[in-house]
Amino acid sequence: MGRCQAVFAGKTLASAWGAAVKVLAVGAHPDDIEFMCAGTLFLLREAGFGVRLATVSAGDCGSAELPPDEIMAIRAREAEEAAALLDAPYTCLDERDCRIFLAPELLAKVVEEVRRADPDIVFTHFPQDYMVDHEETSRAVRSAAFSAPMPNFSTGLADPAPPIAHVPHLYYWAPMELKDILGRPAPSQLYVDVGPVMERKREMLACHRSQRDWLLKQHGVDEYLNAMVESAKGAGALAGLDYAEGFTQHRGHAYPSDNVLAEYVKVTAP
Ligand SMILES: [Zn+2]
Repeated sequence: MGRCQAVFAGKTLASAWGAAVKVLAVGAHPDDIEFMCAGTLFLLREAGFGVRLATVSAGDCGSAELPPDEIMAIRAREAEEAAALLDAPYTCLDERDCRIFLAPELLAKVVEEVRRADPDIVFTHFPQDYMVDHEETSRAVRSAAFSAPMPNFSTGLADPAPPIAHVPHLYYWAPMELKDILGRPAPSQLYVDVGPVMERKREMLACHRSQRDWLLKQHGVDEYLNAMVESAKGAGALAGLDYAEGFTQHRGHAYPSDNVLAEYVKVTAP
């Protein structure tokens, strides 16, 4: 258990999980979900579905001035605040930035998270993205979605959740800047119209106040919030929408291939 383990934001577990359809989003770092997926999560939440959030890392490298423990504590509070806007439970799996690797220990933690969420839909990073942390998180979530129903897969963690009944629907949100690791365009399979919830998505990302200064120094990106808005505009332009979030469904063997997301939100597939 780390300092940010099992943080619960929102009201009560029952109020967040009373819905029939359950959704889990897993990002590598605090703020990844907000950048690429939060609009869709707001739409699903508005539909009455339960949403649960997790980040693999605590965000310990997200500062050039503060030591790891201090910035992790700040970022845990920011992530809690952001999750509360969705009335979503939030868990940090307490790995460290730039050292996320699919190993048995990480897989066990992600499987446990999937089992606790018992989700119908899981969102995570695209398998190929600019940062290896994102790619390893994607692999871990893909593997966990496959392993979570297996009765003989023991996580070895305290108070384990039971195996889930089936492999959930798995969707990858778009890679950063909608580009692959060589800078080539990486269009998504489908786009969700997030225009109606852009202000709420912006408000959720704004909870991560510590990151604006850090990104300015590390990436030369100012206007943290504007970068997200431009990303949503860019995805929208590919789908004839003002603002969108792009997704690609994992449809390999054993994963459900019906596009269940299209049953719940407005989806465009160019
Ligand atoms: Zn990230």
